[in-house]
Amino acid sequence: MKVGLLPDYDNRNGWLEILPPLPEPNILDQHIEADHVVIGGGFGGLAAARRLAELAPESSVVLIEAGRIGNNAAGRCSGFIIDHAHNIRAKGFADDTVNAKRQIALNRAGVDWLDEVVHTNGIDCDWRREGKIHAAASPKGEEALRGFAGSLDAVAEDYSMHDAAALKRRFGTGFYTSGLHAPHSVLVQPAALVIGLARTMPPNVTVHEASPVTDIAYGPPHSLQAGLGSISTPSVVLAANGFAEGFGLFKKHLIPLITWGSMTRPLTDDEADALGGEDNYAIIPAHPAGTTVRRRPDRRILIRNQYTFSRTSDAKRGVDKVAGIHRKSFENRYPMLPDVEFEYSWGGALSLSRNGAGVCGEVADGIFATMAYQGTGMAKGTISGKYLAESMLGSRDPLMGLLDAGTGPSRNYPDPFNRWGVRMNSRWRRWQAGIEE
Ligand SMILES: Cc1cc2nc3c(=O)[nH]c(=O)nc-3n(C[C@H](O)[C@H](O)[C@H](O)COP(=O)(O)OP(=O)(O)OC[C@H]3O[C@@H](n4cnc5c(N)ncnc54)[C@H](O)[C@@H]3O)c2cc1C
Repeated sequence: MKVGLLPDYDNRNGWLEILPPLPEPNILDQHIEADHVVIGGGFGGLAAARRLAELAPESSVVLIEAGRIGNNAAGRCSGFIIDHAHNIRAKGFADDTVNAKRQIALNRAGVDWLDEVVHTNGIDCDWRREGKIHAAASPKGEEALRGFAGSLDAVAEDYSMHDAAALKRRFGTGFYTSGLHAPHSVLVQPAALVIGLARTMPPNVTVHEASPVTDIAYGPPHSLQAGLGSISTPSVVLAANGFAEGFGLFKKHLIPLITWGSMTRPLTDDEADALGGEDNYAIIPAHPAGTTVRRRPDRRILIRNQYTFSRTSDAKRGVDKVAGIHRKSFENRYPMLPDVEFEYSWGGALSLSRNGAGVCGEVADGIFATMAYQGTGMAKGTISGKYLAESMLGSRDPLMGLLDAGTGPSRNYPDPFNRWGVRMNSRWRRWQAGIEE
């Protein structure tokens, strides 16, 4: 069958554009055979390929990527490798403390493995294990922070609270009224991380980029057309996340979303003085529909907000409109920087499921899949790819039950209700977020 949905990213991803230019891609241009083929060079695919190769050094593993690793959602994300479960802010999260603690342990296993890989291989990605600050700018946001603190208390997680004056000293801006520092997440330059992960694969992994899989005949053995060549293999790991439906699997079970980021040019000396504060910080909004902010040592400021539904996972359409919303969010926080424009604005494709379940396991004979991490795939995608690889080779981590329990993603509402539902939900959440956007 023809693969019905292919990635088509632009070159507006700030994280990648500020790095040195990439070398020419290694395009697949012949017929090859491989023991395992991993489709997709995001966090899930990179982890699965590495772990398969580590555990079976005599086997051949091919990682096949449609575009450039670093210009995918993984390299377009905001770089928070989050240890807490994403829904920790949700009402009722800590009601089941045993499960909540296991979710945190799962994410920490992802953070710790990435830490080991980054440091063993000397990957230069500005790795900082300094945690994240959840910050509020309104009474509603403060209420959300109190709920979050209550959830952390219930699962005996450490954190510290910070008042408006302390936040102003740290951030320069006086926009925020209250903050909660959770110390165990890691911050990185995400494009540098994924490029580094791909470049330091074990020797039995071959990485082909700019080689989209355009046709697949399911076996086993499976036959794939990719780039200018083809591959025959008994074992495929599908890690295409926002584009997985193109492979004819999970039809109407994944919700394709784009989320968006913008990055300023570097501040001048005068602008940095006018802002004050520390030169490196990371803010998660108290309200889930609010704005993520990072200030970087290279004096650039990053803004992320908005989720938009896109049936075709198209991250090009609508970017200028979203950049306008980002501008407003920036001006609200940084009125002392009226002339600091965005140099880059971009989107990245995700997939979510209605019931919050991800995919990790064998989905057809010799077809394995890892995807759908509900928007926080750095830690979760990494550990999902790692555990999937281990289970393929016969060993199963006890925490894997958190990834493959139940029946997987539930069926979407039929269209147009699915699309309308996502849009209404997004508008409702924006309205709820108010000034936190
Ligand atoms: C703006 C933004 C901010 C974000 N911030 C964070 C954050 O701070 N922390 C966090 O944890 N998460 C964040 N995320 C989410 C995170 O990026 C994703 O959860 C993560 O990238 C998912 O990893 P993945 O490997 O499943 O998918 P992807 O990173 O999307 O990788 C899938 C890969 O499959 C490839 N592919 C698809 N089809 C084909 C084909 N036919 N042939 C070959 N290759 C194919 C794609 O090109 C892509 O490289 C953010 C996302 C965005 C867009």
